[in-house]
Amino acid sequence: MKQVDVAIIGGGPAGMTAAIELAAGGAKLSVIDAYPQLGGHYFKQSPKELMQQEADVTDGRQAEYRSLVNAVDKKNIEILSDTAVWSIFLNEEGTIEGQNNGRPDKATGFTLHLQGPHDVASLQARYLLLAPGAYDRPMAFPGWHLPGVITPGGAQMLLKGYGILPGKRVLVAGSGPLLLAVGAGLAEAGAEVVAVLDAASMWDGAFKIPAVFWGQKERVKDAWKYWSTLKRKQIPLLFGHAIFRALGEDAVTAAVYGRVDAQGRPIKQSEMVVEVDTICVALGFLPNLALTRHLECEHTYNATLDTFYPRYADTMETTVPNVFVAGDVTGVGGKDMSKLQGRAAGLSILGKLGYLSGEQVKSRLQPLQTGFQREERFIRMLQDRLQARPGLFEVIDDDTFICSCEMVTAGRIKAAIDDGAQDIRGVKLRTRCGMGACQGRYCESNVAHLISQATNRPRETVGTMSIRPPLIPILAGNILE
Ligand SMILES: Cc1cc2nc3c(=O)[nH]c(=O)nc-3n(C[C@H](O)[C@H](O)[C@H](O)COP(=O)(O)OP(=O)(O)OC[C@H]3O[C@@H](n4cnc5c(N)ncnc54)[C@H](O)[C@@H]3O)c2cc1C
Repeated sequence: MKQVDVAIIGGGPAGMTAAIELAAGGAKLSVIDAYPQLGGHYFKQSPKELMQQEADVTDGRQAEYRSLVNAVDKKNIEILSDTAVWSIFLNEEGTIEGQNNGRPDKATGFTLHLQGPHDVASLQARYLLLAPGAYDRPMAFPGWHLPGVITPGGAQMLLKGYGILPGKRVLVAGSGPLLLAVGAGLAEAGAEVVAVLDAASMWDGAFKIPAVFWGQKERVKDAWKYWSTLKRKQIPLLFGHAIFRALGEDAVTAAVYGRVDAQGRPIKQSEMVVEVDTICVALGFLPNLALTRHLECEHTYNATLDTFYPRYADTMETTVPNVFVAGDVTGVGGKDMSKLQGRAAGLSILGKLGYLSGEQVKSRLQPLQTGFQREERFIRMLQDRLQARPGLFEVIDDDTFICSCEMVTAGRIKAAIDDGAQDIRGVKLRTRCGMGACQGRYCESNVAHLISQATNRPRETVGTMSIRPPLIPILAGNILE
């Protein structure tokens, strides 16, 4: 079986930066990514066969992407793209020989199982860097199961990845900066965007922290570009507004939206109906915890964002020895934070492998601190805008689907709670909620909220969906290999 020093899962900004650092330091590594090309979400590329012209390198984002890809190419780093990691096991017998802190060691390591077009179906690695990013946080409301309701990330994927518009008349709603980018992107590509609704008020977080925008030239430039597009196309950007219902029989035909208070509670008198064929909606992001949960890393609950994150040290090592994390899986950090963390993880692993001394690691981590502080200031402001607003759940009625894989409604979940279910496991056993292909990634936060509300217990005490391999749907043949 193929053996490497380090397996990096995720080829976004965090994984790419870590790979460059590790390869420069002498480590043998593989980068595994489920997408056809490196870049992750921020640098998402169209498939090569669909690229009609060379990427515009005068565009700052493309130029930055090209310089990362060139550095990866120069170092001859093995990239397993179009390849998903569907399980990881600790090597009980320690079959990998190598270095740990400069000493010969064969007691640690992991076996990864992969699904992709390459010959490599499994791989052994001494260290793991998990950089699997995040995904849109779904918002449940009556009618969200209808065809035509998608996430902003999904819409962006269709547009950036395949040049396809998700619909003709679109409402964009939820919270977070992605809404602006998606609203502007869809409008530029020819969709009629009827409005962009942000549940946060215009000023939430913006001026709480002095110097929040200091050193954020790129972000301010991006926001200005998106905002000017909306203005030019006369698309209303409505703060303190949210979607209440999607209407339609077989597909979305209209959306009902209106104003919400600071807690996200709908203000019924403000209801408006607008005809649309597409609604793009999400409440910011959730970290992709499939791998950290599968490896049984410890997680902590962030009450502001109402989600769990893996615990990690300054070295980016999790509570499971030799498993490191970087990027959006650690929080809503953005591209620059992901790159900083990728670099920090890469340096720390080089130290573990013995390519750098403890002193060298320390002195190379030190200059990253200014960047970390700058990004953390911004992230605190972002968290204020993305904070969980419990009132948004008030639009859910008994007929609202919560688990769309198994078609479980809020009414059935409430009945399970009445029947004695006290936590997510209890609800899952009674309703099959979370047993579908997504393994609860899209319903966990909504189910947890319903239980927490009905039982009057804090969200962090009602449990989480359990993650079991295979982490993604795979071909039966892959299990037998
Ligand atoms: C849907 C979405 C859209 C975004 N759009 C923008 C935007 O327009 N502007 C902006 O500033 N920021 C955007 N962001 C945020 C920004 O992309 C991130 O902050 C940044 O890309 C995070 O980098 P990362 O390396 O942590 O992860 P990502 O860039 O998210 O990369 C993670 C990679 O891990 C791979 N992966 C995950 N699990 C597995 C597995 N089991 N096996 C193999 N591969 C796996 C994925 O294929 C992906 O390529 C977006 C985020 C998301 C989730």
